[in-house]
Amino acid sequence: MNELRTIQPAAIHDAATALLTDLCSISSESGNAAGIRQVGERLGTELASRGFTIEIRELPGAGDAPLPVLHARTPMTGGPRLLLVGHLDTVLPASPPRLDGRRLFASGALDMKAGFAMFVAALDMLAARRDGPLVDVELLGVPDEESGSRVSAAAVREASRGVRALLVLEPGGVTGGKETLVAGRRGMTDWTLEATGRPSHSGLAFWSGRSALAAAADWSRRAHALSRPEHGPTVNVARLLAGTAAFVDRLETSHTLFGTARHRNVVPDRARAEGEVRYLSESEGKEVLATLARLAHEIGRENEIDLRFTTGGSIAPVDPRGPGVRLVERTMELAAARGFELVVEEDRGGISFPNYLEDPGRIAVLDGLGPVGDGMHTREEWVDLDSLRRRIVLLADLFMILAD
Ligand SMILES: [Zn+2]
Repeated sequence: MNELRTIQPAAIHDAATALLTDLCSISSESGNAAGIRQVGERLGTELASRGFTIEIRELPGAGDAPLPVLHARTPMTGGPRLLLVGHLDTVLPASPPRLDGRRLFASGALDMKAGFAMFVAALDMLAARRDGPLVDVELLGVPDEESGSRVSAAAVREASRGVRALLVLEPGGVTGGKETLVAGRRGMTDWTLEATGRPSHSGLAFWSGRSALAAAADWSRRAHALSRPEHGPTVNVARLLAGTAAFVDRLETSHTLFGTARHRNVVPDRARAEGEVRYLSESEGKEVLATLARLAHEIGRENEIDLRFTTGGSIAPVDPRGPGVRLVERTMELAAARGFELVVEEDRGGISFPNYLEDPGRIAVLDGLGPVGDGMHTREEWVDLDSLRRRIVLLADLFMILAD
């Protein structure tokens, strides 16, 4: 602890807490474009005074309403850039920030205004240690991570072209009492299964019917069973609709059939299932999807059912054994050298910034750099100011090695 205190001037830490309190006093819930812009401008002012060039652009968000995107750039030499990213929006509007011991309670304090305050403070710490300006660094502040991410996805995809690494200022986690860095995030692929069988009267000609329902249910059960615990892939069969073609294909009107005695005497000739697969590595995802397609083919053939498996939208995973491995290791070493023990979170749920990279298989990603806390998205959200202090030092140390 004493070592930390001598390395980090108390003034930098106090300024970080003051800036964080300011940022949290501004309401910037998703959709509040004016408030989000105000947060971007407040941050922009801080960064402009530290040698960054500030640009706030507008991009169409949900319903095409324009939303602000903050780009803050150091001088660029033309070499590959280091990209840092965070979101300016929060789930809840602001409530007055409240300090309780080493906890700062405020909406968005943890998720993730503290990440921005950490970034500004790390720049000050770096400036106190090292001569010459930081170059080839860009901070991207996006406006809609908490709602739809239309702008976030587009802005990250564009800004990440050709970068050498992506640092994500989202909060770290706590596992077994230890703080984490995030090294992996699951990718996801949507899928649909369509089954067409043969209808028949269940009383007069049961055996000449081909039940699309039975085939789709069998497929669904076996698809679900491909899911593996821990870091394995998961297959979620989210919906299964089956019955006669008239029921399945015209649900807007036919749903009134459900719960009645009508059409129960027909072997169901139509089914539709839909869901998603989540996976930590590209190869694992491909393997599961291939198995699902093969299962459809086999079950269809055995039961004389036309069973079609198709995939829809896909979001690439961030593989914890991918190109970020070395960067994560070095960051852990830097933390350890300061007496700050971090553990790696290989499998953080949810889709986030790194998933929007054009090619996450090629770019080193370091996620969860922000300080820890609890109560995200609630009125009891708080951030740990000791964690903030440790992570300011860590980010400054990281800049030292990445700037060389
Ligand atoms: Zn967040």
